[in-house]
Amino acid sequence: MTATILDGQKIAAEIKTEVGEEVKRLATEGIRPGLAAVLAGNDPASEVYVRSKVKTCEALGIFSEKITPPDSVTTKEMLDLVAQLNARDDIDGILIQLPLPKQVDAKAVLLAVSPQKDVDGFHPVNVGNLSTQRPGLVPCTPQGCMEILKRSQIPIAGMNAVVVGRSDIVGKPVAMLLLNDNATVTVCHSKTRDLPAVCRQADILVAAIGRAGMITKDFVKPGAAVIDVGINRVTDAGEFSRFFPNDAKRTADFKSKGSTLVGDVHPEVAEVAGYLTPVPGGVGPLTIAMLMSNTVKAAKLRRGLK
Ligand code: NDP
Repeated sequence: MTATILDGQKIAAEIKTEVGEEVKRLATEGIRPGLAAVLAGNDPASEVYVRSKVKTCEALGIFSEKITPPDSVTTKEMLDLVAQLNARDDIDGILIQLPLPKQVDAKAVLLAVSPQKDVDGFHPVNVGNLSTQRPGLVPCTPQGCMEILKRSQIPIAGMNAVVVGRSDIVGKPVAMLLLNDNATVTVCHSKTRDLPAVCRQADILVAAIGRAGMITKDFVKPGAAVIDVGINRVTDAGEFSRFFPNDAKRTADFKSKGSTLVGDVHPEVAEVAGYLTPVPGGVGPLTIAMLMSNTVKAAKLRRGLK
């Protein structure tokens, strides 16, 4: 068997088109959703992420504002900034790009974001809304995993779903979304005994671990849907050849760039899985698409619109 590769770029493009249409519809009611992206300090990766988020807002007609406090910003200054953004009527979503400079109390800053404007869905109020199935804002990457499953017509209700990873930003919320959609959910972590055997029970296997290629063929039930959230940069040539021994295109790319991105799932899993998300081009593109969707949702929820 060779897995059907699930095209995250294509699904993300569909969602962005739908969000763009909703933005146009809201414009007829005089509403323009707005996102504030706060980028503190000079982390190069964060700069790339924020640029791409702002560009996507522009493409979809969402108002966006990039705010760039210096690397020396204090917790108090960040809290004041968040308070101003909470009070602004033209801002529906506040995105605090992580990591924050080390002197800043990141937890305090995230807690200060109004739950109504918390487009990352990290605020405890939104965590509670998700677990009690109340309307609220849901973390982007986990929502992206669900969109991939649903838009690929992969059944969820009644299925055994295994999530490897229990972080607050991916593992736990994706487990809760699967449970809310009536899967029977098992959450695994570094203390789980006999992880391969638990994973082999899965009809839907979600890997959110942060370890390149850890999920190999022996973790996967034949025909399972495997969602690979991991993004790991591999720079070692020996490690590279363990993942892609016969992939000429990847090899040329690795040689020219000196690195490549690998998921938490080993590419050999395609030999047994029924469906597999690639890295790159799987879950990754959905994260920005869902941020756009959350910004529009926040604009509507705040105004009491359906
Ligand atoms: P964290 O480091 O916060 O969590 C990793 C989880 O994996 C932990 O729960 C940990 O267990 C578990 N784990 C680690 N090693 C093992 C092991 N050997 N066996 C079983 N479980 C293990 O990571 P994140 O959730 O933030 O991210 C996970 C991955 O997803 C990363 O590669 C990250 O880059 C990627 N990511 C991708 C996004 C996207 O847009 N596609 C967005 C966000 C993240 P324990 O709790 O016991 O320590």
